[in-house]
Amino acid sequence: MEPSDIIPGTLYLVATPIGNLRDITLRAIEILKTVDLIAAEDTRTSRILLDYHRIQTPVISYHDHNKERITPRLISRLLDQQSVALISDAGTPGISDPAFYAVREAVAHQIRVEAIPGSTAMISAVILSGLPTDRFVFEGFLPAQKGRQKRLKELAEDPRTLVFYESPHRLERTLNDLYRVLGDRPIAVARELTKKFEQVVRTTLAEVDQQGVTWPIKGEFVLVIGGLTRKLKRTEES
Ligand code: SAM
Repeated sequence: MEPSDIIPGTLYLVATPIGNLRDITLRAIEILKTVDLIAAEDTRTSRILLDYHRIQTPVISYHDHNKERITPRLISRLLDQQSVALISDAGTPGISDPAFYAVREAVAHQIRVEAIPGSTAMISAVILSGLPTDRFVFEGFLPAQKGRQKRLKELAEDPRTLVFYESPHRLERTLNDLYRVLGDRPIAVARELTKKFEQVVRTTLAEVDQQGVTWPIKGEFVLVIGGLTRKLKRTEES
């Protein structure tokens, strides 16, 4: 790709790896090398990726706690016909991270936005789960307190495969809550995808309840849970 392929005044949403530094497209590397500025959620994590691929573009920090302050700066550079790439800590920007805020502002200013697709943890977890993939619902992180029970109760009747992100420190509590509200379900726990300690544990919520967590509670997790099937409904009713 030639630098001329960059369209001035465009916000590029560039997917980066969820672990393995080589899980990035050729186009993503070219865009990151060519834009005027990279806005990165975690500049330290992104530095490792950018150095690995010899990308020397200037980087600014854009995260949940500075997004209101930084977005107007990004918008003003875009309106000046500069090009900006937005990258998240890992995976696809806009999936459970603050990219949405900048995209909404860009759209409001009629700025061109382009997605450069690649990894996202939920898709890898869904396809590895062995659970139905024809319909699934991505729930991101469950609320920590307010609205948590309500959200779970709403999902209890959902026939689609359910997908959650979870942090290690809340994992056990979430597995517990899932079992209490959804009852027994098949579950795939996808841990550290594409990394050295990648692991997919396919079990059931009842088994986890009885045996406890039998894998290391370290790293990053996606939980994929079977939806309410007719068979499960009949078992619950009888
Ligand atoms: N934008 C990212 C994406 O496209 O997947 C997600 C960002 S969200 C702030 C981070 C969460 O994604 C983690 O807490 C974890 O639930 C999940 N995640 C990210 N990388 C992962 C990996 N390598 N293995 C398992 N889960 C991962």
